[in-house]
Amino acid sequence: MTNPYAATPPMLLLIPGPVTTSAAVKAAMAQDFAPWDDSFRPLFAAVRERVLALAGVGPDSHATLPLQGCGHFAMEAAIRSLVAPSDGKLLIPLTGSYAIRMARLGREAGRHVVELAIPAGCPLDPQLVAAALAADPAITHVGLVYSETSTGVVHSPVDMGRVVRAAGRQMILDAVSAFGALPLDLSTQPEVAAAVFTSNKCLEGMPGLSFTVARRDRLAHAVPAGSWSFDLADIERHNSRHGSGLFRFTPPAQVLAAFRVALDEHAAEGGSTARLARYSSNARALYDGMLEIGLQPYLPREAQGPIVTNIHAPGDPAWSLPVFVAACKRRGFLISNFHDTPTPSFRVGCIGGVTPADMRRFVAAVDASLREMGVRERLPARRAA
Ligand SMILES: *Cc1c(COP(=O)(O)O)cnc(C)c1O
Repeated sequence: MTNPYAATPPMLLLIPGPVTTSAAVKAAMAQDFAPWDDSFRPLFAAVRERVLALAGVGPDSHATLPLQGCGHFAMEAAIRSLVAPSDGKLLIPLTGSYAIRMARLGREAGRHVVELAIPAGCPLDPQLVAAALAADPAITHVGLVYSETSTGVVHSPVDMGRVVRAAGRQMILDAVSAFGALPLDLSTQPEVAAAVFTSNKCLEGMPGLSFTVARRDRLAHAVPAGSWSFDLADIERHNSRHGSGLFRFTPPAQVLAAFRVALDEHAAEGGSTARLARYSSNARALYDGMLEIGLQPYLPREAQGPIVTNIHAPGDPAWSLPVFVAACKRRGFLISNFHDTPTPSFRVGCIGGVTPADMRRFVAAVDASLREMGVRERLPARRAA
């Protein structure tokens, strides 16, 4: 079999997950494992503890609930397990398409979801949430997307948490594209009942594992999930009964082995602080580079987060997103082949095993691709007045 992404230097994924992984992370998968074996179980148990430490908490107050599969699965499990089907009510500030997805997960699980429209393109104003909570005492939980991967805007769980806590409610945090880079200290945020993330974004592991870090006291009062697969309390019961190194159902063992190496590399780099610094440098190199070659980033610099950047599509009639994506791919860079903004754009992930030097090479590749396509007008089409 030939490598479909053969390129020199190797193909970089500039998408906000799954991300470019290191050679050592990939190599850790090249082995067979029996998940129930005594040699494998300590690996899993250690991963669970290390994840808790990254969230700033320990095993007395919080539990790591791993689930096979992607981030949506963990988010569904958190909503099903914590928001009561009868008298629970989940408020979701509409930060972008991941908030809309969270709302859909809640509704399809039969939960009462209320959406809060907010101004686009800037961090969420906590006072809007405070007002919504004051107006509706029936709301039990707020669902917040920390880094909204559709817009690239970061919404502070600390600021939001303050108003949620003051109102005596709980928060479910989608930290999927944040955890491992953006700060998170759950020891100072008792209102966060659960935070959700995956192996394959800022932690730079392989896709296939999702995690929920949940407060033990909230888990003790978990509600009927209405699904065995997505029942966090059942995962926790299983762990306490059979020891912390055991999944309920067949785990992606190779993904877990790779994730352990990814956690080692995260620590060796200097933890979340160092990773955020590198991602921020990546995002800056990209933002500056796009301006230098005449392209227009979607967000003003002060609203732009370090995880993913949207760039306005050039207004030139020669522009075509699929042609552009293919041209970048031939030059060794894979970007998303869709856009997630109201007007045409392309999006570039700044996370994963990439550096500012890679971002500068990407800027050169974009420039060359646009020339090849005959795109002369690089500013966005002016929208009809
Ligand atoms: C990636 C992501 C998810 C989960 O996506 P999956 O494809 O299910 O892993 C959820 N929320 C945000 C903000 C994300 O970036």
